Amino acid sequence: MRSVAIVGSGPAGLYCAEALLKASPDVRVDVIDRLPTPFGLVRSGVAPDHQSTKGVARLLNRVLAKPDVAFFGGVELGRDVSLDELRAAYDAVAIATGAACDRTLGIPGESLPGVYASGRFVGWYNHHPDHADVDLAGVRTAIAIGAGNVALDVTRILAKTPDEFAGSDLAPEVSAALAAATLERIRIVGRRAATAMKFTAGELLELRDLARAKTELGAGTRIEDLDGAAGTALAEVVAAADETKPLSLVFDFGLVPVAFEGDGRLERVRFRAADGTDRVIDAQLAVTCVGYETHGHDLERDAGALRNVDGRIDAGLYAVGWAKRGPSGTIPTNRSEAQLVAKTIVADFGDASRNDGRARLTALLARRGVAYVGYDAWRRIDLSEIARSGDARVRRKWRSHDALHAAATAT
Ligand SMILES: Cc1cc2nc3c(=O)[nH]c(=O)nc-3n(C[C@H](O)[C@H](O)[C@H](O)COP(=O)(O)OP(=O)(O)OC[C@H]3O[C@@H](n4cnc5c(N)ncnc54)[C@H](O)[C@@H]3O)c2cc1C
Repeated sequence: MRSVAIVGSGPAGLYCAEALLKASPDVRVDVIDRLPTPFGLVRSGVAPDHQSTKGVARLLNRVLAKPDVAFFGGVELGRDVSLDELRAAYDAVAIATGAACDRTLGIPGESLPGVYASGRFVGWYNHHPDHADVDLAGVRTAIAIGAGNVALDVTRILAKTPDEFAGSDLAPEVSAALAAATLERIRIVGRRAATAMKFTAGELLELRDLARAKTELGAGTRIEDLDGAAGTALAEVVAAADETKPLSLVFDFGLVPVAFEGDGRLERVRFRAADGTDRVIDAQLAVTCVGYETHGHDLERDAGALRNVDGRIDAGLYAVGWAKRGPSGTIPTNRSEAQLVAKTIVADFGDASRNDGRARLTALLARRGVAYVGYDAWRRIDLSEIARSGDARVRRKWRSHDALHAAATAT
């Protein structure tokens, strides 16, 4: 029997576990996650109103429930267990910790209150236990900086009415904060030209159906500048705009942010246009949706991900998912890639087998007083969140680490 530790229970980690079990009949997999809940960004990144996408959690849960897989939730690599300890205990270790560090723009004013990196903002509306509330008081104009789907998620969540969150898992507290906000305009600003936008057509077309929002183009963008599938979708949404709707969604392209400005909190964002002139847009909230980087775990990094060759970092050490290739690709991309990395792991197994990884990890955690959340305890959290969801939601997440651990141990 071989034992493999996978650090990270997002799609990449769990697809890798599934593929390992398929690739070899005698593998046992331990999946470690710093949170007491599994599924990574499926739970805390994918938008709460995209429940069909979040539904992949049901498939991932089946992997976690397999007899040859164990879940060690609430165990953090680097805090509760070191990489050396895992490598000494297991035949192979795969790092699937994603890319949780927000990329920054590195411009003045980025730390002003009112300026949020998308990981922080998305974590708030998805009830990630590490992310505090976002202050929407007095916000009339919000700016989402970025021309990818995360900027559209942020825009849509800010734009929807409470009724449009029916059937989602948006927390009532977040819904109340959004409903109380006095938003008049959301600007979506891309740094490059409209032809370089990375939105997908499907996500753009969703804007057409929003109850209170109409979509427009900013002064510097003409409808003739839009091409390709996304450009055509954006043109369609703009053409369908209903002028009677009170909230404007304004798309601008070719504006590079150069400073966040304000006295003690954000009041305006300064952009530079392609002709070298400055455009200053008044705003009380800005969300920078400009990508993520992988945590290094004291390993070498390359272009925001762990340095690796086809997933192999070193003997017996692998990377998979966003930790392997950086923050690109959709959930299914992680599946096909995890299958390849799992094949490599199995092919690399040497003659000697360390089949006592789980016993060694359990003993080490007990010595350190780390009370991990196993699969049954995770299911208690899961079922309690569903049970308290009420009619309008599919789930009501526990917010804090304490509340999650209490739900895990409730009898
Ligand atoms: C805002 C947002 C919206 C998205 N929406 C979509 C969408 O609608 N459709 C789609 O297909 N894709 C979407 N994606 C992309 C998708 O979420 C990723 O492709 C996928 O989650 C990457 O999987 P992963 O397992 O590599 O990383 P993650 O999902 O990030 O999982 C990493 C896991 O590692 C754990 N971890 C991190 N550090 C440690 C540590 N030190 N010790 C132990 N555990 C640790 C984390 O808690 C987490 O559970 C979205 C991404 C973002 C950011």
